[in-house]
Amino acid sequence: MGSAITLLMGDDGIVVATMDLPGRPMNVVGDELMAGIVAAMGRLAQVDAKGLVLTSAKGDFCAGGDLDRMSKWATPQQPFEASMAMKAVLRRLELQGKPVVAALNGHALGGGLEIALAAHARFAVDDARLKIGQPEVKLGLLPGSGGTVRLPRLVGIQQALQICAEGADLSPQKALAMGLLAGLARDRDDLLAQARAWCQANPKAKQPWDQPKFRFPGGDSRAPAVVQMWSIAPSVAAQKSFGNYPAVQHIMSSIFEGGLLDFDAASTVESRYFAACAMSAESKNMIGTLWYQLNAIKKGASRPEGVPKSTVKKLGILGAGMMGAGIAYVSAKAGIEVVLLDTSQQAAERGKAYSQGLLDKAVKKGRSTAEKRDALLARITPTTDFAALAGCDLVIEAVFEDRAVKAEVTKKAESAIGAGAVFASNTSTLPISGLAEASTRPANFIGLHFFSPVDKMPLVEIIVGERTSAETLARAFDYVLQIGKTPIVVNDSRGFYTSRVFGTYVMEGIAMLQEGVHPRSIEAAGLQAGMPMPPLALQDEVSLSLSPHVAEQTKKDLAAEGRPYAEHPGMGVVRQLCEIGRIGKKAGRGFYDWNDDGKQLWPGLTTLYPTAAVQPEQRELIDRLMFAQANEAARCLQEGVLRSVADGNIGSIFGWGFAPFHGGALQFINAMGAAAFVARARELAARFGPRFEPAPLLVTMAADGGRFDDR
Ligand code: NAD
Repeated sequence: MGSAITLLMGDDGIVVATMDLPGRPMNVVGDELMAGIVAAMGRLAQVDAKGLVLTSAKGDFCAGGDLDRMSKWATPQQPFEASMAMKAVLRRLELQGKPVVAALNGHALGGGLEIALAAHARFAVDDARLKIGQPEVKLGLLPGSGGTVRLPRLVGIQQALQICAEGADLSPQKALAMGLLAGLARDRDDLLAQARAWCQANPKAKQPWDQPKFRFPGGDSRAPAVVQMWSIAPSVAAQKSFGNYPAVQHIMSSIFEGGLLDFDAASTVESRYFAACAMSAESKNMIGTLWYQLNAIKKGASRPEGVPKSTVKKLGILGAGMMGAGIAYVSAKAGIEVVLLDTSQQAAERGKAYSQGLLDKAVKKGRSTAEKRDALLARITPTTDFAALAGCDLVIEAVFEDRAVKAEVTKKAESAIGAGAVFASNTSTLPISGLAEASTRPANFIGLHFFSPVDKMPLVEIIVGERTSAETLARAFDYVLQIGKTPIVVNDSRGFYTSRVFGTYVMEGIAMLQEGVHPRSIEAAGLQAGMPMPPLALQDEVSLSLSPHVAEQTKKDLAAEGRPYAEHPGMGVVRQLCEIGRIGKKAGRGFYDWNDDGKQLWPGLTTLYPTAAVQPEQRELIDRLMFAQANEAARCLQEGVLRSVADGNIGSIFGWGFAPFHGGALQFINAMGAAAFVARARELAARFGPRFEPAPLLVTMAADGGRFDDR
């Protein structure tokens, strides 16, 4: 018997198989767990056993596949065979002739759900936090253990397609409504009782698809309604993914073809598509960054060692505007006492009201309760009195982006807080080392750059100033994890990391306009590249009016340092639009005309920047948008602004939505190889300017065959 599963036979003849993978926080599907299932099947085969209930001793039921095993696969034959072997076990389980029930005490995700689907019935604890789903697509994979075969036969092709291609989780209530679950239980005891009762009531359980008159719910892939759905599904998917996610296409193909085939043939087809996904560059990129690098970050790879772990109990926030209000909400949500300070009581109260608004919505939608809302709100104290900051472990400043205002609040706050407290600035553009000059304790001064809207954006960019201590960094890092966000750590520099690289994307798109590229082609290129928003729309969203000021400031600062300033060719366009009052969404006019119905590209754009007779290929525009970002990210690493590859990749995806299938701005270069990147970057530099000249470290990497790696 595999030690991953313990078996306990009750007086009723029902064997309870409890998954508890040794040495792992969660149950994951791999050889060990499968050996346990084989052993459970052996026990079930004995004459005294009447049924099997599969459950888990961990918090989750089973949360997915063993990615360590997957990352060793080198040929498509390996994932194909691994997938077929796992399926053979699950097929035997459901054909054994005795009832098998999955008792979902916690999350059943990916391979975990696929095991549960091979049971004849599933029950789950009725807890809205419990997640049921096939999230494989988010890592460029396809459910390769029968998910795309059993789900369509259980809940219908359309629902199965949604579950597998979108990768969104279902709550137990939703899963029950679509027939994926047989029932809900109050708690663990009730869960096991219901599972046992089901076994007793169904001694000869068979899967629906093994019944002679089986029909797909809603019809198979030939049914008229389903055919209609199939005729539009690929274009609906392409509208979002632009063909950048082969897993989405493979999932559709597997479900479509499986809907024309018998169970076993469909299973083989699924394994072939699984192998194609597992071998794809996209899944390797996403697994490398969104699994391994993200986990390394969360485990503290960028946190200084030797500093004891800390928690913030009381937080002060200066400025209750858009950012301050958001930071207050996410911090109070994490159980932290918050003092929210502004220049008038009314402004401070308004900041707190932001949390009230979010929470009222959550209560209305059933995602929170009135008690939880009230408890959270009670933790936020709006005030104008700096003395209320006494006892804060951390103060975050989010006042106007103005050096003098920031210096003033730094001084006032420091006179109220203890000598050991950390002071952080949420500035988006001002160098941290300069702001720290207003501080009497610059070692405790750091940057915590949040993104808007704070409650939705997962990243916080931590900026280390020249004099910031390791302890301060460690404490800021711990706070970011405490509020459930992902920290990246960067050294102080103009634009830090995220704003600097993000800016190259937007400005490249704007520069194209002045060359006579049609604005619609520019916007399409942004989306085709896999960015969440096209460049011109994005610049409208963040407003054009700030950019010329930032450029002026940069020019002055560089002159003071005796360094040359090369203006980006897109800057002239921004200035010209600002001069005619087209400053962006705020004003209702920018590159687009904005109104209540949405936005349309401003027709005057092509008068101002006449469209050239010969238009470049979209591929070239996409390359420019992506190479500009990747090259700048490489420069950030070379200059020491970035301290790790993981931070560069995760920062790019979580910070500004860098096309996730590339695995981040630095992985973009790894995936194509430094030599190919350098060659293409040089071509672009020759045609569009020195900003594309590859960062020197890339030239070295190209010569030695090096790649970006933290290990
Ligand atoms: P905001 O204008 O919405 O809020 C600023 C708040 O600070 C206002 O409520 C104002 O009354 C208050 N304030 C001004 N002077 C003060 C003082 N002396 N004492 C106390 N309160 C004072 O601005 P915001 O968008 O929340 O930005 C705040 C900071 O965060 C800025 O430094 C900005 O650059 C940075 N930031 C903004 C974003 C964004 O997307 N808006 C993103 C990252 C960082």
